[in-house]
Amino acid sequence: MKISRILKDNRVTVSFEVFPPKKWENLEHTKAVVGEMAKAQPSFMSVTYGASGTQAGFTQEIANAIEDSGVTALSHLTCLTSTRDKIHRVVSDLKENSIENILALRGDIPEGFEFPDDQYFEHAYQLVNEIKTMGDFCIGGACYPEIHPESANRVEDIEYLKQKVDCGLDFLTSQMFFDNEKFLNFVEMCRVKGIEIPIIAGIMPITNAKQIRRSIELSNCSVPEKFYRIMERFGEDDASMKQAGIIYATEQIIDLMANGINNIHIYTMNKPDVAEKIMNGLSEIIK
Ligand code: FAD
Repeated sequence: MKISRILKDNRVTVSFEVFPPKKWENLEHTKAVVGEMAKAQPSFMSVTYGASGTQAGFTQEIANAIEDSGVTALSHLTCLTSTRDKIHRVVSDLKENSIENILALRGDIPEGFEFPDDQYFEHAYQLVNEIKTMGDFCIGGACYPEIHPESANRVEDIEYLKQKVDCGLDFLTSQMFFDNEKFLNFVEMCRVKGIEIPIIAGIMPITNAKQIRRSIELSNCSVPEKFYRIMERFGEDDASMKQAGIIYATEQIIDLMANGINNIHIYTMNKPDVAEKIMNGLSEIIK
């Protein structure tokens, strides 16, 4: 099913993200993880794509496993290091496997990377345009409540976002954030600038202290004082930190919903128990 249809009518949706394995020998395990996650009945599940394209095959396999588990799949696709031909092959495979939803991304720029020639796409909006020529897909894009690290300022960031949306995006999924005010302000600014498609809030449950340092490094997002205090108090004890992280993420989602945000995407990091506990914490709210 197209995600644009799932997001219709202001319904509350909660979706999950999984990442594909790096090695073939772990494929069956990741498929089993998908099966476990599906039991929590997410609105859809997304599967990430390696920026270098090396995990492309596994992305397709996992997208198929998601659909086989009875859940709609959203397949990520990055363009930075793939030629136009490679993109066409990947998109054709998705089509052959009846995957209808693609999250069109650029990918992070590897250190020292230079664009080889015009067979490569420099920005995600070009990938959106290309996918549009290849079939009737529902296409999503990424957005950044605290600005993409390469953007000079918020105005520029939203101008380029609008350009990408105008290429025909059906929805946006946000980078993770821990401070709801940042997301709510961002959504307001998008609406003022005429971006009217659904903006799905990306929530990362932080379940160990090491993970948060890495996540902040990669995402450029700020961490509220309240969360630092939780880490200071519970960071040394894995079980306590996991419980606190799940509760923080659940409260973040409840607060977003109380502020009118109906679409939530959880970066579940292939942890079915985390996904299940968050869904249990929301059971009456999302039923
Ligand atoms: P773009 O939309 O191209 O934006 C990148 C930068 O270029 C921004 O600063 C933007 O303002 C600027 N820009 C855009 N258009 C123009 C223009 N016309 N001229 C000049 N500047 C412009 N990475 C992976 O490798 N695999 C994944 O599966 C993956 N999934 C993700 C899922 C989500 C929800 C998010 C938020 C990110 C994900 N990423 C993933 C990371 C993403 O690839 C990086 O953040 C990347 O640096 C930017 O990708 P983008 O699609 O937002 O790029």
